[in-house]
Amino acid sequence: MPTLLSRSSPLDPAAPVPQYRQVGWLLLIALALLLGASISLIVQKRAAVWEHAFKSTRDLSLGMEALASARLAQSDASLRGIASDLREPPITAGTAQAAVRNAMRYDPFSAYLGVVDTAQHTVLALVAQGGPAEPAVAATLANAIVARAPGALGFQQMLRLPGSDDWFLPLTLQLPPAGQQRLTVFALVPARKLIEGAESLQLLPRGYVTFADENGVRLMRYAKELNHLDVNGPPFLATTLTRLRAQTHGSFEAYNPVVGYPVVFGHSRSRDLPLYVGAGLPASEVTAQWLRESIAPCALLVLGVAGVVVFAYRLREALQRQHASHQRQQYEARHDHLTGLLNRDAFARSVKAGLAGARGGQLALVQIDLSNFKDINDTLGHSAGDQLMRILARRFAALLRGSPAQVARTGGDEFGILLRVGRIDEELAALEQRLRAGLKRPITVQGVEVELTASMGAAIYPADAGEAGELFRCADIALYASKNSLQRFTRYARSMDNFSADSLAMKAELAKALRDGSLSVVYQPKLRLDDGSLAGVEVLSRWRHPVKGMVSPAVFIPLAENTELIHPFTRCVLQTAIAQASQWQVRGRAVPVAVNVSTNNLLDPGFTDTVAELLAANGLPPQLLELEITESAIMRHPEMTLKRLHALRELGVRLSIDDFGTGYTSLAYLKLLPVHTLKIDQLFVRNLDRDAGDQRIARSAIQLGHGFGMTVVAEGVESGDVAAMLRDYGCDYVQGYHYSRPLPADEFEAQWLA
Ligand code: C2E
Ligand code: MG
Ligand code: MG
Repeated sequence: MPTLLSRSSPLDPAAPVPQYRQVGWLLLIALALLLGASISLIVQKRAAVWEHAFKSTRDLSLGMEALASARLAQSDASLRGIASDLREPPITAGTAQAAVRNAMRYDPFSAYLGVVDTAQHTVLALVAQGGPAEPAVAATLANAIVARAPGALGFQQMLRLPGSDDWFLPLTLQLPPAGQQRLTVFALVPARKLIEGAESLQLLPRGYVTFADENGVRLMRYAKELNHLDVNGPPFLATTLTRLRAQTHGSFEAYNPVVGYPVVFGHSRSRDLPLYVGAGLPASEVTAQWLRESIAPCALLVLGVAGVVVFAYRLREALQRQHASHQRQQYEARHDHLTGLLNRDAFARSVKAGLAGARGGQLALVQIDLSNFKDINDTLGHSAGDQLMRILARRFAALLRGSPAQVARTGGDEFGILLRVGRIDEELAALEQRLRAGLKRPITVQGVEVELTASMGAAIYPADAGEAGELFRCADIALYASKNSLQRFTRYARSMDNFSADSLAMKAELAKALRDGSLSVVYQPKLRLDDGSLAGVEVLSRWRHPVKGMVSPAVFIPLAENTELIHPFTRCVLQTAIAQASQWQVRGRAVPVAVNVSTNNLLDPGFTDTVAELLAANGLPPQLLELEITESAIMRHPEMTLKRLHALRELGVRLSIDDFGTGYTSLAYLKLLPVHTLKIDQLFVRNLDRDAGDQRIARSAIQLGHGFGMTVVAEGVESGDVAAMLRDYGCDYVQGYHYSRPLPADEFEAQWLA
């Protein structure tokens, strides 16, 4: 029976909002997409930057190698020319000098050409570009040039010559041995001529170019920023040399022991000469470049993530607020704002649901009515009354905590309890004892100790009633029986039900009359006191019983009120009245009609909608309909009534308090009522001309009504004297036999609308 006895959830604005999960997923997806896109961009950037570095170094090495090879081809040709001239021994200084000089004539590139006898360490011939060479140069070269295998072309260690800062690269060709002679032909190539093409190094910051011989021995390294040559370095690492030998050109990343860091290294092997040219670029430069180019996507990522996070945070806040306000609304719709207990509507629904889910179980509905609460309220004031209510509500809730029960505040000083029961008598007795104990404990409000008493009535499902409305009615009957006897707790019994036999039959007949349409209405005019003109008309129900004749509304209205019959009944009267008013309006007579409604109509959550529908269906402007609610009806369930009256007033319908003076409306409450009109009960009007007390009451009621901005109607005016006195008091409207009895529609039309 979860619907019945589950406790209503307390308001918790921090409770997880159901939409979070969905939104959370969406945000995660957004973040993942953002992250994925940025990472892919960064990874692509890295690949592109590295690819570019490999290509640039390779291209540079290819270019430099092509240039150097082309230039060195000159020197190579000179060496081969000299070697060819010196094919025939004996080779003397003279023949050698002639051959060298001859070769120099066609060689614009070599700085020196010469022949050295490496066995004797003597220079056989030497010629410089543009003339004879210095003797000091010859002396240096005699020791610097070393022998190689015969026929081999190769480079030797870079050297400097006396009287010059320039470095020269020796290219040598070993002649076959002849007698004692070991001759090496050589050309000295100026290093600066080989690096002339290295301007493109500018494009590679911290890049360098390296020349090495076929064994990977570093001949020279040129770095633009060093602006000088680094010569005769150590040989390449074996792994590097293997890679250089594997391809004619290419590029790779490797550690360079000379500079001490990893580099991207492009290389190219000369086709004709034993020469490798390499171009190196520090790997850190490539990484730096990559990072520079990744700043934009990274910034984009950070901004995007920040944006998503801020958005998510704000969204979460908004959802939380929305959820909290939704929960609050739901809570307020179901709960009594003063005590936090279920309100009457919610309780009624709960009882209905409880019965539907009872599955053979028994339920007790207990109605509790405080006996002396009104006195306390009137004596100590509303805030004391409110405080008292709250304390009592807490006590009831605490008493029932843990038991399969639900407690509600069903009216101003009424509570309802729905309880699952097994052994009815015992459990009801136990419940009564607990409630009684709770009431007995004195409560101190505003320094005054008060003790509450209450009447209680209980009815059992399914023993007493089979459906919710009937169960409420039985509990009510038990409650009233309890009020009227000295017993404080009464369980419903058939014998208490004055709807027994005769009245049950009457109820059935009333229902039949309602179905047959044999109920009728009469119209009593309401007149302006100052000029006697027609101000409106009150619609009063009439029932002609087939046997008993006319039955007074004072008899059949309570009969209907105590059952569900009141709803179709009022609907029927409303339909008749509204249709009639609409007809009059069409005929040019806009006569406001007043219909009496009972408490149970106001407690029906669908009542406002019913009124709105009927008005719309008949095309009657809402201000031509007035609803009369008796003061005592209003006071039975002040809070709920107030809620409904506001809803009706919003519809545009006019509202009046009927039979004013017989209920017990406090001024504080009267102030809250959204009503237009106050109708003084005929009890104070009928004998106005004879009773001084009535005069005081009538005069005060008129002043009070006017004070609250209401118009005042006096009903039950039976004589001209009374009318004259009311005029003196400033009363606005009158209604009574002195003017007209309630009349059937046609007579009313003939007399008042003709
Ligand atoms: P009420 O709304 O206060 O209606 C005025 C009652 O006073 C009517 O009695 C009317 O006939 C009577 N009356 C009017 N002028 C005079 C007069 O000068 N002297 C005397 N002695 N009586 C006068 P009625 O028609 O018997 O209705 C009694 C009550 O029954 C109504 O009091 C109203 O509360 C209720 N009632 C009547 N029709 C309906 C209805 O359709 N729905 C509901 N919920 N209640 C109705
Ligand atoms: Mg009335
Ligand atoms: Mg009245």
